[in-house]
Amino acid sequence: MSCYCHTCKKSFHSLGIARHRAAHRDKKEYCKITFSAGDTYEWDYSSKNKIKLPCLYCSKKYDFDEDSNEAKGILNVFCPGGDCEDRYALNQ
Ligand SMILES: [Zn+2]
Ligand SMILES: [Zn+2]
Repeated sequence: MSCYCHTCKKSFHSLGIARHRAAHRDKKEYCKITFSAGDTYEWDYSSKNKIKLPCLYCSKKYDFDEDSNEAKGILNVFCPGGDCEDRYALNQ
């Protein structure tokens, strides 16, 4: 069975697909690959700049894409899970 790279529109032997994916990673490219079992995965190695922003409540820092709504200040930054957001709201 062969694997298929949707990014390159080419089929690859299942033994060669890992190396092929690594090549996309090295070139910082997006790739989408269907493996021989039929499962499809996507990887986005394109180099978005990340910035660190602190949770407004506890100041724990998280990575955000440079063009995310959090980075633009449209959304507030809180820890995932909602506790910090709830506590922050109570303190207002
Ligand atoms: Zn490819
Ligand atoms: Zn927090």
